[in-house]
Amino acid sequence: MNRRALYGAIEAGGTKFVCAAGYGPTDIAPQMRTVIATTTPAETLAAVVAFFEQVRANAGAFSAFGVGAFGPVDIEPRSDTWGSILNTPKPGWAGTSLVAPLEVFGCPVALDTDVNAAALAEARLGAGQDANSLTYVTVGTGIGGGVIDQGRSIRGMLHPELGHIRVHRDPRDAQFRGVCPFHGDCLEGLASGPAIVARWGAPMSALPIGHAGPDIIGGYLGQLAATIALMYASERIVFGGGVMSGADLLPRIRAVAAEQLGGYLPIEARAGGFERLIVAPALAGQAGITGALLLAMG
Ligand code: ZN
Repeated sequence: MNRRALYGAIEAGGTKFVCAAGYGPTDIAPQMRTVIATTTPAETLAAVVAFFEQVRANAGAFSAFGVGAFGPVDIEPRSDTWGSILNTPKPGWAGTSLVAPLEVFGCPVALDTDVNAAALAEARLGAGQDANSLTYVTVGTGIGGGVIDQGRSIRGMLHPELGHIRVHRDPRDAQFRGVCPFHGDCLEGLASGPAIVARWGAPMSALPIGHAGPDIIGGYLGQLAATIALMYASERIVFGGGVMSGADLLPRIRAVAAEQLGGYLPIEARAGGFERLIVAPALAGQAGITGALLLAMG
């Protein structure tokens, strides 16, 4: 009889749910992993439960579940709506509980945002293994950030919403109004994937050589990196997501962060310089599901 604790993990995204079961964060057998399209809550969650029921039939009962969810999601355990998607524009999902369907497994469920879960994985097993604090920023359809300090994500009335910070406008970008429905030209409104397509008609990866886009976007993200360094004193700042993989933005981000900070923080002495402070993810596409497994393991 196998007595090792079995954990279930869900990376609940706006386009797909990655589900996995394993005995440790890097111990997921191929048959214990699946990807389910995010359609209606009823259809998607029924498929999720069916997958884990099949795993349970083969491998035995679960010890705990970990869920890293797209937001906004209620991650406050004392709240009546803990585990529910909040006011999302995604049709049908507002008010949907991601944890209630897992009650049939009769074990604890740990929940955090998808970005916090990815940040946790990068902090413990990826780019931040040798640092005590890490912020993970994803730049894609939206811009989100997870802040890990001493191995735990920072939370408050909600979760940090780094993507909605305002930044100084690049003079070359003065005419664009921004795409954030709440703030117009906040960071997400200016530097997310949809913002890039809205003003230049192509994603970052398809902009022609010499286009000012990467320089402008890297500049905005460099401002964010400086803000993160000032606010959270993170020893490592990881930039991932589709926009980041579309161009080599890190050198520009580092240069603008350095310019903004003006030598004020001990980056060289304490973080090993900007090349060590601001880095690419180490876990690539595995950070989210790995982080959900870490959540399950507590
Ligand atoms: Zn905004």
